[in-house]
Amino acid sequence: MRILIANDDGIYSPGILALAQVASEFGEVLIVAPDVEQSSMGHAITATRPLMYKRTPIEGFEAYRVNGTPADCVALGLFHLEHKADVVLSGINLGTNLGNSAWHSGTLAAAKQAALFGCRGIAFSTPVTRDEPDFTSIKPFVRQSLELLLPQTDLSLVNINIPVNAKGLCWARQSLRHYDGKVVPGKDPMGREHFWFTVIPVEETEEGTDRWAVDHGYVSLTPLRLDLTNNEELQKAQERSPLDKR
Ligand code: MN
Repeated sequence: MRILIANDDGIYSPGILALAQVASEFGEVLIVAPDVEQSSMGHAITATRPLMYKRTPIEGFEAYRVNGTPADCVALGLFHLEHKADVVLSGINLGTNLGNSAWHSGTLAAAKQAALFGCRGIAFSTPVTRDEPDFTSIKPFVRQSLELLLPQTDLSLVNINIPVNAKGLCWARQSLRHYDGKVVPGKDPMGREHFWFTVIPVEETEEGTDRWAVDHGYVSLTPLRLDLTNNEELQKAQERSPLDKR
């Protein structure tokens, strides 16, 4: 099995090395990742300047750093670096990607990019901790997840979140909590105003969701789809306002 590994934290993140170490038990690994952090860049692609890459072997793993986004890295990896990958793994992100984060996560975007190209994609994330995460306790759950998912080839895109001190795996649906936006003002050393954008959840987490699973100490496994169509509303809209196609 050929495995392409990307992330959004950048090629020097300890998370990508931990993922490569576990992945190498399952197949041949190639790392292609952004040269600097690209967290929260979502599925952006670089379209107005050239992309470049440099070979950067990491602890024995063949690796390339790219001056682009996570999605760029997957495209370069799959189409240029002559790697016919069977699966793209992304992460391990330092920070969970639960619920609404799916919309702006660069980690998940790398896996989505794979799925858009007809390859499989699996994203891994773990909560931010004060110190570096304890990868020795996270790695067994990455291994278990891969053992479970890799043979199930119909699962083309899966989002995985591994809590601290996890107690097992759990299938979960994406939580959709509403948030209140919050803009926190500050001042830079020159006295100029600047702002931080943050959000506050306004609803409790529902059982069966990814957030619920992680809050309760379970590794959440969420199969996702690329088709965003709201079929229920499409049908209602068609019935309400039939449009004449001539
Ligand atoms: Mn990140």
